[in-house]
Amino acid sequence: MTPSQTQNLYRFNFDTSYLNLPGAFYTPVSPTPVALPQLVVFNRELANDLGLDADLLATAESALVFGGNVLPEGATPIAQAYAGHQFGHFTMLGDGRAILLGEQITPNGERYDIQLKGPGKTPYSRRGDGRAALGPMLREYIISEAMFALGIPTTRSLAVVATGEPVYRENVLPGAVLTRVAASHIRVGTFEYASAKGDISLIQALADYTMRRHYGETINAENPHLAFFQAVAERQAQLIAKWMQVGFIHGVMNTDNMALSGETIDYGPCAFLDAYDTATVFSSIDQHGRYAFANQPRIASWNLARLAETLLPLFADDEQAAIALAQQALVDFGESFNRHWLSGMRKKLGLQNEEEADSELVTALLSLMQQHQADYTNTFRRLSGSASASAPAENHGTTANALPGTETLFATAEFTAWAGNWWARVKRQSISPTEALTNMRAINPAVIARNHKVEEALKAADNGDMSAVHHLVAAVKQPYVESAENKEYREAAPQSAEPYRTFCGT
Ligand code: AMP
Ligand code: MG
Repeated sequence: MTPSQTQNLYRFNFDTSYLNLPGAFYTPVSPTPVALPQLVVFNRELANDLGLDADLLATAESALVFGGNVLPEGATPIAQAYAGHQFGHFTMLGDGRAILLGEQITPNGERYDIQLKGPGKTPYSRRGDGRAALGPMLREYIISEAMFALGIPTTRSLAVVATGEPVYRENVLPGAVLTRVAASHIRVGTFEYASAKGDISLIQALADYTMRRHYGETINAENPHLAFFQAVAERQAQLIAKWMQVGFIHGVMNTDNMALSGETIDYGPCAFLDAYDTATVFSSIDQHGRYAFANQPRIASWNLARLAETLLPLFADDEQAAIALAQQALVDFGESFNRHWLSGMRKKLGLQNEEEADSELVTALLSLMQQHQADYTNTFRRLSGSASASAPAENHGTTANALPGTETLFATAEFTAWAGNWWARVKRQSISPTEALTNMRAINPAVIARNHKVEEALKAADNGDMSAVHHLVAAVKQPYVESAENKEYREAAPQSAEPYRTFCGT
């Protein structure tokens, strides 16, 4: 069965610029219709931003579109080809369970890929079924929307449809299709794919396309492709610094899961830190901790090196010269990451100006947090003073209502000494301490998508009850708000014997 086509009721406004690339980069393929599509979550606000008819799409019938049974008018569905280093090993991949419907041009003239994830087999499915389970698709919906609310570049989630069909993994699970919205789906792995084909014109075409789509400012640079690579690296430096500042662990930073747009992409076994521990790994398949929390900047650099290798022939005619340029750009990436990280951590501590010793101040706190397994989110929130306490002028930020997961740390003499230093430092700037605390409350989240709340919501959803998902999504969309309603989302994780484990979203 193939999907039928709608009239343009929903106001999709598709363009298809990706089809101008050489045919090697994609294969036309339609979604496979599902048995009983039911809309379980829909992102009204995002639909509006995209210029879609949110009211019409919120109705039950749109499940036919988001489930892949009906193609919106103007859609030209394709699966994209790519490759990737998975846990360090090169493989040819491609959209094995994703189909791009088209590029939505918004009323503001922006371009976003509208992609179905889990729509059935494609020529790149290998041994997979092309399908996705409800839990992982809801997980992507929840966490991507949480990241967006935290101001972190990310793909977004427009809808999740339950398919009414089972998917067979270790267990039998309810199937689902996620509608993902992305600035594009061009990955480091897309460049690796072009490079592996051994045809320089493919790299050239992809680089030129990506530059026009995302990095127009580099086209007229003296060395355009080098400028492009530097700009890609700079966006990654900013992105990874943001992840580190909120305690986000991507979990599977393979090169096929790094987007050239600079958006966080491919939410699989990702999760936020509870207790601060730099060695944290949540993913059950990451046995050697390759993608542990603290490794993320290094892995980003490793992935960028794979990207640079594909671009070397475009950097310079002489290979040695090209390598030297790439190496320098990677050194610049490391320095830029450090700068963005420190500048973000300063803000988390309410510091607007710069002092030489700020880096030590930050690392001293982090090492105390690590030692006492302090809750990452709640520690910074407690330092910021809670909303219910009036902003304290002289309390070292420590007398605000205790927040779960911070008691052990805050009771120590070492911490009291650190807090004294910090508070003195807060006062050495032109803004008042009260203002500094207010600023801190605007950037240190009170609510993140906490692991135990995500699990609770997904479990209920698997049993047909979507209410916990809806409540959680509403809570993470307002991360800086402390209210009686969101109290349960601000609690640290309950003590548990087993470390938290996540599974790949397949
Ligand atoms: P991911 O781990 O989601 O980044 O996926 C890695 C690769 O495996 C990509 O090429 C996916 O398209 C493919 N893949 C993952 N799950 C499936 C599935 N159920 N069926 C077919 N291909 C899949
Ligand atoms: Mg992937």
